[in-house]
Amino acid sequence: MNEVRTRFAPSPTGYMHIGNLRTALYAYLIAKKHNGKFILRIEDTDQGRYVEGAVDVIYNTLNIVGMKHDEGPDIGGPYGPYVQSERQDIYKEYAQKLVESGDAYYCFCTKERLENLRHDCEARKMPFKYDGYCRSLSKAEIEDRIANGEEYVIRQRIPDRGVTTFKDEVYGKIAVENETLDDNILIKSDGMPTYNFANVVDDHLMGITHVVRGSEYLSSTPKYNLLYKAFGWEIPNYIHLPLIMKDNGKKLSKREGDASFEDFYNKGYLKEAIINYIALLGWSPGTEQEVFTLDELIQAFSIKGLNKSSAIFDPNKLRWMNGEHIRRKSLEEFHELALPYYKEVIKDADIDPMKLSKLLHVRTEVLSEIPENIDFVEKLPEYDVDLYVHKKMKTNLENSKEALIRAYDVLEKLDKWEEEIIHDILMDLVKDMGVKNGQVLWPVRTALSGKKFTPGGAIELAGLLGKEETLRRLRIGIDKLSK
Ligand code: GLU
Repeated sequence: MNEVRTRFAPSPTGYMHIGNLRTALYAYLIAKKHNGKFILRIEDTDQGRYVEGAVDVIYNTLNIVGMKHDEGPDIGGPYGPYVQSERQDIYKEYAQKLVESGDAYYCFCTKERLENLRHDCEARKMPFKYDGYCRSLSKAEIEDRIANGEEYVIRQRIPDRGVTTFKDEVYGKIAVENETLDDNILIKSDGMPTYNFANVVDDHLMGITHVVRGSEYLSSTPKYNLLYKAFGWEIPNYIHLPLIMKDNGKKLSKREGDASFEDFYNKGYLKEAIINYIALLGWSPGTEQEVFTLDELIQAFSIKGLNKSSAIFDPNKLRWMNGEHIRRKSLEEFHELALPYYKEVIKDADIDPMKLSKLLHVRTEVLSEIPENIDFVEKLPEYDVDLYVHKKMKTNLENSKEALIRAYDVLEKLDKWEEEIIHDILMDLVKDMGVKNGQVLWPVRTALSGKKFTPGGAIELAGLLGKEETLRRLRIGIDKLSK
């Protein structure tokens, strides 16, 4: 087999859509699985959509997630340039070849004419199709009109009859009647190629063996194959990927903050989890395994596992997976990641952040939620005494007050403030009072946090806060319950 070469060919839009990142990931996995090459090509021929800094977003994202490309604009390679706007002359040359062989032609139709044609098609409820008006202009006329400075485009000449078929690795056999295909534009009036042309020329010249891209290109692929045929080039393997949808049938949206890699990365999702999750959006490993590193994905990946039904993006599953990847990190690694989030809310509190990490490492699903979970450490929030009333724990205002007073007494006497000792002394107290664990631990936890949900229970919170602060908060609780 030839060397496997795949490419990621994003248009610089300014952000990395989850769907595009998934395309990149599958292209990467296919290349790496076969010890092949993963190429980055920037598709920037739509100059109207140019966004400052957009290319950096692409480099940064690939860099963060660890998908290293083997060839690309920044590192070069044998088939450069890898930026389409720098390849204009190449497209022109190949378009010219098609004109000469009769597979493409010059078209001088004005905007107005095309507009009318479009309206006609709409009125007949037909998709737009160019009517071939300029298909048979004479060479002399073409030369004249170009010399006169008339604007033109170059269009593909689609055969009037016949069927174009191909096999997609995901969607299977596709057959399209040529007469339904449009003589689409290959070179625009500004001299730039369309995607429809540039992708074919580049994929061929760059030796791409597997074209991985979104299924929105599936219906145009027959046109591309006609171009390959016109040039006498070998058609690559096609792997079109299904759309990613939300549960409600909607698309991921930038406005709702669930469309791009950055949306999740900035919210404190780990790159490993994002990659792992999107790998499973349309691919299944054929085993029960769900949690994978990038290297494990390379091992497990196979094109056969790709699915053609649209993938549903489930944010809860991503959360769960993020938690799993957090758990896979060592305590020290987690500590490093979590520290900036502690600093957001902990300013003066005298606590050992490592203790906090021990509590949070086993409980956190998304890093950005850390501040709201630990804000009580810095300052005891205002809370309502009703918080002490817990049906399952069998606590009410009276027995909570008693538990706090008794806990205060025993804790005050401790010389050494260690969790184990705190644990033993509170368990002794439970026994002494002849109550259930929860009837002491719930009130203490409430007094120490003023919150319903906390990372860790009474003993861990006391260990974290230290003796002085623990006693101070118990005192406040007792006062509240005495009113
Ligand atoms: N530039 C195209 C896009 O961003 C790439 C399609 C392809 O991979 O061929 O959608």
